[in-house]
Amino acid sequence: MTEPSRLRQFSLLAVAIAVAAACGGGGQPAAEPADDGTVVLTADRVVDGRGGVLEGHGVAVRDGRIVAVAPAADLPAGERHDFPGGTILPGLIDTHVHLSWHFGEDGKLARGSAPETEAMHAVENGIRMLEAGFTTVQSLGAPVDGPVRDAVNRGVVPGPRIITTLGQLSARTGGADELVAEVNRLADAGADAIKIFASESIRVGGGPTLSQGELDAACGAANERGLRTLVHAHGPVSAARASRAGCTTIEHGALLDQETLDLLAANGTFYDPNTYLIFQNYFENKDRYLGIGNYTEEGFAAMESGMVRAMETFGMALATGGLKIVFGTDAVAGAHGQNAREAVARVEEGGQDPADVVVGLTSLAAESLGLGDEIGTLAEGYAADLVVVDGDPATDIGALQRVRLVMRDGRIHPTR
Ligand SMILES: [Zn+2]
Repeated sequence: MTEPSRLRQFSLLAVAIAVAAACGGGGQPAAEPADDGTVVLTADRVVDGRGGVLEGHGVAVRDGRIVAVAPAADLPAGERHDFPGGTILPGLIDTHVHLSWHFGEDGKLARGSAPETEAMHAVENGIRMLEAGFTTVQSLGAPVDGPVRDAVNRGVVPGPRIITTLGQLSARTGGADELVAEVNRLADAGADAIKIFASESIRVGGGPTLSQGELDAACGAANERGLRTLVHAHGPVSAARASRAGCTTIEHGALLDQETLDLLAANGTFYDPNTYLIFQNYFENKDRYLGIGNYTEEGFAAMESGMVRAMETFGMALATGGLKIVFGTDAVAGAHGQNAREAVARVEEGGQDPADVVVGLTSLAAESLGLGDEIGTLAEGYAADLVVVDGDPATDIGALQRVRLVMRDGRIHPTR
């Protein structure tokens, strides 16, 4: 392990202890709290997550819920935090992360760590993302995510809301009957959604790996259990099969064509393109991945061309009327906490309107998670998950990387 990474671990530990101390009960905020526990935030503007921009507004929060979004003068009394020059947004949502991926003691991608080691890295990765303004993450997903999710939900361990698939289905699972059995096994184990590999990795071409009948069976079984389905599908054949099978979201889709994008739009299938961070993080950490599994020189070359193609496909997707494009990064080892770099790239390299990126990060992402009435929107009655950034993301998407305050369920968390 290199010295910088050792230092980083120490600083993470310090942050984890500080956060735990702040959240462990009895910690008093710096300002005097109002009698009823109301917390009031003001900034230059409130971005509501649905495309609305409310200049000169603020947000009041009580008991973990938003109780008012109003002009600053009309907000109730409470513990007040003012952010001149800032913007208040719904807490950011990343619909595709891998919570427990981490580098091992040798600095390389860790495979097969002990579950307790995986769990602690998952906790650390969650804290990194929470500090970066991501108050909800969907992990696609490992068994260890479950206990980490449950620990965060118990309210002492800090972290984002964690939604997890606990595992994944693929051609290796078996045929239709085995896929259905695995859906039911994961559902019984407490999975929040089902992840299905319907195509190869882009490192080996991205071709389809499950038949129409197999996807019909798997997504049908998940729908019967009330679980959403997130389908890894790079090429048009696999994505079209998944959309026809009633699956919820296409992940990646780097090689899709216009006909398939139109099909997704017509069927209301969400599209989660991972256009930048997944590739860039691999390139920046190449020596930590190379030589493991299909992280070969050929695989990296395929990702170099895949990144160009993914951004081209993203451009086609932006021009596809009615297509629901959500925000997911596919954050793996090395990327946690840098999630907003994907947003910057979608604007600066992909040409997406920054206001649309924000909707994809908030209300639309929440809708894709089936949580559209709970998170992703700043309005009375919603959960008090929000972030304050320095600047205006509508004109400077990089503002999302300048986080000044993170609140989840009404609790303020430290930022870095
Ligand atoms: Zn992934």
